[in-house]
Amino acid sequence: MCKLSDISTVKQILAKYGFRFSKALGQNFLINPTVSPKMAELCGAGQENTGVLEIGPGIGVLTCELTKRAQKVVAVELDRRLIPILHENLSGFNNIKIINDDIMKVALKKLLKTEFSGMNVVVCANLPYYITSPVLMRLLEEKLEISAITVMVQKEVAQRLCAGAENRKTGSISLAVNYYSEPELLFSVKKGSFMPEPKVDSAVVRLNVRKNPPCNVLSEELFFKVIKMAFLQRRKTVINALTGGDAMEVSKPELVEIFERLDILPTKRAENLSIKQFADLANELHIRGHK
Ligand code: SAM
Repeated sequence: MCKLSDISTVKQILAKYGFRFSKALGQNFLINPTVSPKMAELCGAGQENTGVLEIGPGIGVLTCELTKRAQKVVAVELDRRLIPILHENLSGFNNIKIINDDIMKVALKKLLKTEFSGMNVVVCANLPYYITSPVLMRLLEEKLEISAITVMVQKEVAQRLCAGAENRKTGSISLAVNYYSEPELLFSVKKGSFMPEPKVDSAVVRLNVRKNPPCNVLSEELFFKVIKMAFLQRRKTVINALTGGDAMEVSKPELVEIFERLDILPTKRAENLSIKQFADLANELHIRGHK
């Protein structure tokens, strides 16, 4: 069981099924035998009464390590060519369910309720790079009953996810991730750990989902809109970024007055504002009826 990280075994399996990698589906399979046990350990799969949702199991390298530790694993894989391979490779376990679907289309709330009733749930995935942000935002925004999300992503994305606010690497995703979770950079993974080898190194990040947000936000929709608009033109001051186009319907004089009232310097750019300052700004706009 779980010998799948051995490169010759992986090659044999792929040859047996005549499998060809799909670049479009972000298929870079783990071949470094140390990575998946470490990920499975650090995602908390082995905690008492824990279920794991895995996204994109591939041929089951990480799945196998998760299934050894967790009470139950549900793995959602989009590529139907991989389903018989997964069934064969995981045939020794009875606590795994494989679902052939697109993670962006699965009714996640319902799935968690039916598959993991009464369990602590964590997510663990070597994510396909092309949908890293949409998947993370979906998992966080839907406020699912998940305690942590441990993902392998491109190293640069990992740094951005963990940048927090007021940092040169901060992007709108950093603030969103910080609003919903406390991110931790766990370890780096060299590009040679995958087959085929990607162009860049990766890193594993754990997002410890918050029970309560770090600041009071009256309208999450407006809060994230303000953040998005401010970072869209990150070289401009926030005042100019929010009043430049017609997306925000707030005049420059009014925004200058709001900044003064909130004691925020008008010269600040998005990367210089804290999450609390973004919340104060969005709350003030909300109170004044802006959308
Ligand atoms: N977990 C495996 C590993 O570590 O070797 C494979 C990881 S590979 C980076 C990403 C996997 O996600 C592939 O198996 C790919 O087919 C699958 N995938 C891509 N898009 C998906 C989607 N929208 N929903 C579910 N799985 C997807």
